[in-house]
Amino acid sequence: MEYENRFRQAQRPKYDCLLFDLDDTLYPLSTGFHKVCTQNIRDYMVEKLGIDKSKIDELSNLLYRNYGTTMAGLRGIGYDFDYDDYHSFIHGRLPYENLKPDPVLRNLLLSLPYRKLIFTNADKIHAVKALRRLGLEDCFEGIICFETLNPINKNIVSYDEDNIEFIGSSKTNHIVTRNGASRSQIFDIIGHFAQPNPCVDLPKTPIICKPSQNAIEFALKIAHLNPQRTLFFEDSVRNIQAGKRVGLHTVLVGTSQKVKGADYALENIHNLKQAVPELWEGDIKSEIDYPTKLAMETFVTA
Ligand SMILES: [Mg+2]
Repeated sequence: MEYENRFRQAQRPKYDCLLFDLDDTLYPLSTGFHKVCTQNIRDYMVEKLGIDKSKIDELSNLLYRNYGTTMAGLRGIGYDFDYDDYHSFIHGRLPYENLKPDPVLRNLLLSLPYRKLIFTNADKIHAVKALRRLGLEDCFEGIICFETLNPINKNIVSYDEDNIEFIGSSKTNHIVTRNGASRSQIFDIIGHFAQPNPCVDLPKTPIICKPSQNAIEFALKIAHLNPQRTLFFEDSVRNIQAGKRVGLHTVLVGTSQKVKGADYALENIHNLKQAVPELWEGDIKSEIDYPTKLAMETFVTA
């Protein structure tokens, strides 16, 4: 009793919410997903967009570096394609059988009395499928994914059969115009960087994704998160640094080497308790205010 009273008087917990990237953060690189994804993107560029095979390496690097994701870059320089078709091509052939239920992570997550959300650049179908394979589908309040940030894409997953709920953004005014659709010319980004011309800017992409600060700020707004009270888990250094710029507390996952912008670094998400013990300190369960219900009622699109 005395023990309980002591913790009831403890300070307000440092965080309200834990915001998790999905791929290569909640499961390790050894699943091979990353490699297959990269190859699928290359194949898509050749098979679906007719891009010369010899240009793929350079083009992919430039797009990834300048636009955040290859997909965002492809749209930026003028390729038009169906987002669902792209996602199903990239993720549809992933070796999902390599993702096994992770009861250790599940117990860790369930023992953390904070709001917990997924924030991924991937599409809903992939996110749900991966979380299910990992046995984590009921550990999160919702998923902020490609469709949340880019709601123009109309192909909506049937949510009814999913236990997990999605945060959507159809009620916000962040509508993105697919203004690249009518572009007849593809911007020569390789030539642009080979012979830089200060008078020519890179075309903008209509796609919103990490690591753009806009994407992160948009996600925080949708989920009503205060960055200063949110802990952000990511395997991407770029995304960690972008998160830090908007004021998030950050955990780099996949390496124990801390980098600029990372408050913590974990080799594996399973090391969470050792690396960030403060998450379990105090009687935070009785102190925490869960706005989950309200948030989902307001934003769910199902
Ligand atoms: Mg990732």
